[in-house]
Amino acid sequence: MHLPEIKNQIAFGFEQLLNLFYPNLCIVCEHRTHSKEELFCLDCQYHIHPTEMYKYQNNEFTAHFKGRIDLVNGAALYYYVKGGRIQKAIELLKYKNRPDIGIRLGRFYGSLLKKLPQYSDIDLILPVPLHSIRKIQRGYNQSSLIANGISESLNVMVREDILKRNKATYTQTEKNRMERISNMQKVFEIEKTGLIQNRHILLVDDILTTGATLEACASLLIKSGSVKISMVTLAMAT
Ligand SMILES: [Zn+2]
Repeated sequence: MHLPEIKNQIAFGFEQLLNLFYPNLCIVCEHRTHSKEELFCLDCQYHIHPTEMYKYQNNEFTAHFKGRIDLVNGAALYYYVKGGRIQKAIELLKYKNRPDIGIRLGRFYGSLLKKLPQYSDIDLILPVPLHSIRKIQRGYNQSSLIANGISESLNVMVREDILKRNKATYTQTEKNRMERISNMQKVFEIEKTGLIQNRHILLVDDILTTGATLEACASLLIKSGSVKISMVTLAMAT
């Protein structure tokens, strides 16, 4: 046997040994996966499919913001179905101390976006910041993990020192939608506005529900400079 083959055999053996102690597990149900690259077991793969809306510049996600924010791109990787497997993965990420799920799904999402020309001129990735108390409780901001995973695949920098949450809290007592949005904008602030000028910004969050948070962040960025905005989330409520 030649040396490279022996090395391969050793590497293969080592991989098998690692797999014995740290098996490659599905991020939803913890059944085994075929390789460490695979996120889901065969059964989950059968049930979970990306929306593919990221391939189209006009889709359900961008329609959600029509007349509110002018988006260059917008897409959710999965649909969020109550009781579904993606809901379970996101719950593990948010409440069960599984930061790896955010990074791995982000990497996967980034690898899909990298193939598309409409995402090739992104300059900066900004995660939606989490309330500081929640971040302390959770130990991490899930949107920032997703953003970092996407960043690895797209090779674009994540900045967490631009879009920030204000320390003060504001209550949502107003009935009027415009008041609610302007109130929501007070929750966030932009620092280092010089860094965003003429940039194409990718905003990242975990789930799109009403879109109020993403809209507030985008409006604030647009007010602060000449920017192009794209948004991606892991999931979108149906
Ligand atoms: Zn599974």
